[in-house]
Amino acid sequence: MAMNNQGRPSQPGAADAFDLPTISGDRGLDHEEPLIFELGRVGQCGVDFPPVSISDDRLGGQRRQGAIGLPGLSEPEIVRHYVRLSRMNYAIDAGLYPLGSCTMKHNPRLNEKLARLPGFGDLHPLAPASASQGALALISELMGWLTKLTGMPAVAMSPKAGAHGELCGLLAIRAAVASRGENRPRVLVPESAHGTNPATAAFAGFTVDEVKATPEGRVDLDDLRTKLGPDVAAFMLTNPNTCGLFERDIIAIAELVHEAGAYFYCDGANYNAIAGRVRPGDLGIDAMHINLHKTFSTPHGGGGPGAGPVVLSARLAAFAPLPLLVHDEKGFRLIEELEGVPEGAKPFGRMSAFHGQMGMFVRALAYMLSHGRDGIRQASEDAVLSANYVLASLKDVMSAPFEGPCMHEVLFDDSWLAGTGVTTLDFAKAMIDEGYHPMTMYFPLVVHGAMLIEPTESESKESVDNFIHVLRVMAEEVKAGKKERFEGAPRLAPRRRLDETAASRKPVLRWKGE
Ligand SMILES: *Cc1c(COP(=O)(O)O)cnc(C)c1O
Repeated sequence: MAMNNQGRPSQPGAADAFDLPTISGDRGLDHEEPLIFELGRVGQCGVDFPPVSISDDRLGGQRRQGAIGLPGLSEPEIVRHYVRLSRMNYAIDAGLYPLGSCTMKHNPRLNEKLARLPGFGDLHPLAPASASQGALALISELMGWLTKLTGMPAVAMSPKAGAHGELCGLLAIRAAVASRGENRPRVLVPESAHGTNPATAAFAGFTVDEVKATPEGRVDLDDLRTKLGPDVAAFMLTNPNTCGLFERDIIAIAELVHEAGAYFYCDGANYNAIAGRVRPGDLGIDAMHINLHKTFSTPHGGGGPGAGPVVLSARLAAFAPLPLLVHDEKGFRLIEELEGVPEGAKPFGRMSAFHGQMGMFVRALAYMLSHGRDGIRQASEDAVLSANYVLASLKDVMSAPFEGPCMHEVLFDDSWLAGTGVTTLDFAKAMIDEGYHPMTMYFPLVVHGAMLIEPTESESKESVDNFIHVLRVMAEEVKAGKKERFEGAPRLAPRRRLDETAASRKPVLRWKGE
């Protein structure tokens, strides 16, 4: 019997009716939903307020002269509006989410429960240290886990995401270079790097130079050697890299970078492949951000929230940004001002108004404590195993650009699609009709028509098997010249093919009404 992607029997013919015109605009339980401004009626209100009589002088002459056009809806209409919108989203709670590089793993409900404990959830960021000892102790404990797991002596907790962590790391490096009285305006990044790496370097005021990849998909050491020099501040590397491959020469890379007097930045977004197994500090890394919302299972997507703490080597620790968390006989406290910093500390400034994303900290620590070091190691190993299982199961029908096993994500290219008339985009969009979020497409750029699949460790073997089955049948159809499924996909989604270029180049972010 055919199974759908959740392992339930699929319903043959269930999609037959979708070509009938709809009367309501909705299609079954797939709801169409206008903007709230289009739905709302002027004068309608979800609650009944008693008449107010606020005198003009109490409002200082600021009384509103006319309606401001807020949409009016009854309470059930408002609830329905947001529930309907939420159902248009794909989420990890709806199905396997194979988006490579993003580590869309299950977010354990235990983490959610703990993050909502009133002592953490209701704490105001401006509460005095005397009223927030527990929260500060939790941050301190999380810092301990991060420094021990990575083998790095210091960690900055305030960055709010991976990209923000990159900025924090490069600003620390810039401060360290300046403190040596040097001028190093260049940052090197491999050509396979995530777009945030060169963007961060440019934003921090550096010029960016690309380092070539070898035919094996790894850093070309000779090219790195020629590009390094006394004007280079840092080399930024992702390991495992964005092709899902471990940079085997990382120790030699670190030595080259340090010999040139530069710092070694590691993009830690792929830490999920090595957490508990490899300590980045042992590899010679000077700064690395950790996406708590990837490796440590705090929820992400839709732009946040995230958390990107940055671990720092002894060479950079002094430059960590404010606030600094200290513990002395009076308990925990945050040092917020340059005047109060301990001897030797030279913070480069601060990354954000407060000390970080408390909700993410609670979730990440809950994940760590519930897994333990061995459990984290097991999670990394299972993530790598899942990806290799996908690779081994599909490499006869799809094409992998690089030889050998992968780490926690598997990269295919589009050479197997050559001459079929089906593109990476068509294939990915057809996955939506099968109830899956597409894999990461066209990234990394070093591979033509890239498809980057990260199953993560939190999927069961049955779930990964169903996913493989769907991709295999689709791939076989492509090869047999059966293109119906791919032309014009997705069909069973609230929206069909969008103009993605226009969506990012000419975004319409404001509803203007009539
Ligand atoms: C996700 C990711 C980033 C950026 O992290 P955000 O938390 O989204 O800012 C950087 N590099 C790589 C390789 C990533 O996968």
